[in-house]
Amino acid sequence: MNLHEYQSKRIFAQYGIPIPKGEVATTPAEARSVAEKLGGAVVVKSQVLVGGRGKAGGIKLAKNPDEAQARAADILGMNIKGLTVEKVLVDEASNIASEIYLGAVLDRSRRRVVLMASGEGGVEIEEVARTAPDKIITVAVHPFLGLRDYQARILAEGIGLPKEHTSAFIKVAKALYQAFVEQDAGLAEINPLVITGENQLIALDGKMVIDDSALSRHPDLAEMADKSTEDASEQEAKAEGLSYIKLDGEIGCMVNGAGLAMATMDIVKYYGGSPANFLDIGGGASAQKVTAALRIILSDPHVKAVLINIFGGITRCDEVAKGFLEAINTLKVDMPFVIRLVGTNEKEGRAILEEADLQNILTATSLADAAQKAVQAAATQSGKGASA
Ligand code: GDP
Ligand code: MN
Repeated sequence: MNLHEYQSKRIFAQYGIPIPKGEVATTPAEARSVAEKLGGAVVVKSQVLVGGRGKAGGIKLAKNPDEAQARAADILGMNIKGLTVEKVLVDEASNIASEIYLGAVLDRSRRRVVLMASGEGGVEIEEVARTAPDKIITVAVHPFLGLRDYQARILAEGIGLPKEHTSAFIKVAKALYQAFVEQDAGLAEINPLVITGENQLIALDGKMVIDDSALSRHPDLAEMADKSTEDASEQEAKAEGLSYIKLDGEIGCMVNGAGLAMATMDIVKYYGGSPANFLDIGGGASAQKVTAALRIILSDPHVKAVLINIFGGITRCDEVAKGFLEAINTLKVDMPFVIRLVGTNEKEGRAILEEADLQNILTATSLADAAQKAVQAAATQSGKGASA
């Protein structure tokens, strides 16, 4: 789950990282009153969950409350990379002398949290990594020892930070690491961390990505979720207890078990098709869950055929077959379905499908056979689409 800049910065502040004074506004009038309260120049910042807002025109300076109101009116409702701006953060403006990048990220190959710093702050770090990788300094943190002062010093020296800022920088780096660990983040990033004209170190921008699987431990964070950026189908899937990830292909996949779902996607690709989604209905899925899963798959307009691959264990094939027929009846679709049911109650499951005698259902016994049939069916459907 991604947190907005204002949410991330508030968390950073709780750990002692200096941030500019500021408040969120949802209307130009509110932005004006925040600016009045702050006094002096402010920066009006769109709160959308994408990077590069500055370049996209979503960050504007304002010298006084009048201007703050006008800039907020420009920015609210703006579309930035497909997202509509519903909130702005009005922060007191900073006088920037230089911009630094500082981030904490989980490095799976090193099995450590890694802190990264760069003197090239303010621009996207991916860009720095591509064009000047030597400008990024990293240290890996020992999980029991935590970030040590000397490691933060390595970062400070590596980016050529003036010595007078070293101790403030160490505090910020340790606080960022602490926030990362305690909040179960996958990423915690300050870009830019600036040195101001008044020689202060302050976090101007903030970004945190929280591990979704840890949200049960952080009800306060779970509440901050910005539903507007979550895919509607993914939200519905979450509510039904299904693991669903939308992809770009044409073959909808409904599978029980994450490993089997991956194998199914691989074999679809192997036979020249492309999966429209990853969907694990889990063990012991009821007819109701199956219906919900199919509704979600079919809500994707790119889907041309559906491959159902069930390995019955706790999940019973007859339950899946019932759920499937229920779904077909309520959703009224004539799309081709390829169904492979093996394991617990497979005979009963197949009998239920045969009895229904539907034209658009193909059955398969092996996974290879099922994948080939699904790829073929999707290709035929595409052909129809093109000539229609
Ligand atoms: P991003 O573009 O989405 O990463 O948004 P940022 O919050 O990082 O802002 C982008 C850039 O706007 C920063 O790198 C700064 O150069 C500039 N900026 C942001 N806040 C201020 C401010 O208070 N004063 C000044 N002068 N520039 C700012
Ligand atoms: Mn930024």
